[in-house]
Amino acid sequence: MKIAVVGTGYVGLVAGACLADLGNEVICVDVDEKKIAALRQGKIPIYEPGLEELVAKNVREKRIFFTVDSAKAIRESRIIFIAVGTPQGSDGSADLKYVFQVAETIGRNANEPKIVVDKSTVPVGTARKVRELIMKHSKHNVEVVSNPEFLREGSAVRDFMEPDRVVIGATSEEAEKAIYDLYRPLECGILVTTPESAELIKYASNAFLATKISFINEIANLSELVGADINEVAKGMGLDARIGKHFLNAGCGYGGSCFPKDVQAIQKIAKDKNYPLEIVEATEKVNARQKLVPVQKLNKEFSSLKGKKIVLLGLAFKPNTDDMREASSIEIANALVKQGATVVAVDPIARENAKKILKGIAYSDSVYEAAKGADAIVLVTEWNEFLELDFEKIAKEMKSKIIVDGRNVYDREKLISLGFKYNGVGR
Ligand code: NAD
Repeated sequence: MKIAVVGTGYVGLVAGACLADLGNEVICVDVDEKKIAALRQGKIPIYEPGLEELVAKNVREKRIFFTVDSAKAIRESRIIFIAVGTPQGSDGSADLKYVFQVAETIGRNANEPKIVVDKSTVPVGTARKVRELIMKHSKHNVEVVSNPEFLREGSAVRDFMEPDRVVIGATSEEAEKAIYDLYRPLECGILVTTPESAELIKYASNAFLATKISFINEIANLSELVGADINEVAKGMGLDARIGKHFLNAGCGYGGSCFPKDVQAIQKIAKDKNYPLEIVEATEKVNARQKLVPVQKLNKEFSSLKGKKIVLLGLAFKPNTDDMREASSIEIANALVKQGATVVAVDPIARENAKKILKGIAYSDSVYEAAKGADAIVLVTEWNEFLELDFEKIAKEMKSKIIVDGRNVYDREKLISLGFKYNGVGR
């Protein structure tokens, strides 16, 4: 099948590479000329495990191509995926300008019947609006299918190839079958539904996962007040199959390119229907507070942070990605800088992206170097390389041995035995 994927970001590039690997001929389109030029030279603009190899393999086997010429890609493809960004607009709703731009381009260039697949996360009703917009300009019938994406950055290739489920929201049987057939080789559950339900499934799923995080964070804060250990509490809760053990890790809040904006967008969808989503509102409020928990812990340790050297371990919003969007590290670093601390950050991959966002902090390649003369270490992102550190060596380098474990990943007893003052979240 000849497929165009418009938007070559985290979702578009991963979807394009995976669809190519499944045997389709895929042309990835982007307006960003630099990105396309880099991809044509075999350079992958984002960090995502396994992606570079997958793209290289499919380039070699002539199944994936890159272009800025969207009109040509549309003309040559039977199926066109829309995978452009849907950033948060000023009122919290998803900004659909890129989606609509692509829809118009498809309408103007459709030279035969086409199937458009909306993979971007969009408000309920968008698939129908996209079709209306396309049909304003197109002489040929174009069907629009909603096919939200659930991949997680950091394991995006695996998530695309081994999804928990695929959701297809369609109004035409022919379009539904064509997209069903694309995903058939994945051998996962495929739910076929209406575009409206498909669109809401995506937002509801993200809002639910965000709520699970904020819920466990609230219980973590309560655990501290009553002398319980949130790791034990979460374990005990998660053993109940109705609750499940996933997404019960307390810490310093969620970030990323999806949860924060999707949590806002679903509230806007509901508000427009005069139905405030009170649980989701609370989720967002709790998360904003939770991001600053590590700073509050430092404020309890020191009478003032002025001149204190604080080492931040991890900047990306989660491990295995270079994505800094809405990362908890941003709030933490900014608050520390504001209070006059000297902040030194270590992150295996996200440094270049962090430099575009964070002001007034220094960077180091080595935790051991950064620890020299440090007053405290704050673990923000639980990259693998931070899990097995030699804390005996670190203890010798630090001025005062204070650890804030923002993700509850360290062995508290071991750190205490090495002379550290350990601060977890909820334990
Ligand atoms: P991204 O910002 O990484 O990539 C979007 C790409 O679209 C950019 O390269 C941009 O240059 C390009 N673009 C914008 N307008 C264009 C146009 N008119 N023609 C061609 N290209 C254009 O975004 P992303 O993280 O890949 O997210 C894309 C969508 O998928 C969003 O709706 C997002 O909510 C959703 N989503 C993201 C993830 C994730 O983990 N990142 C997961 C699931 C769903």
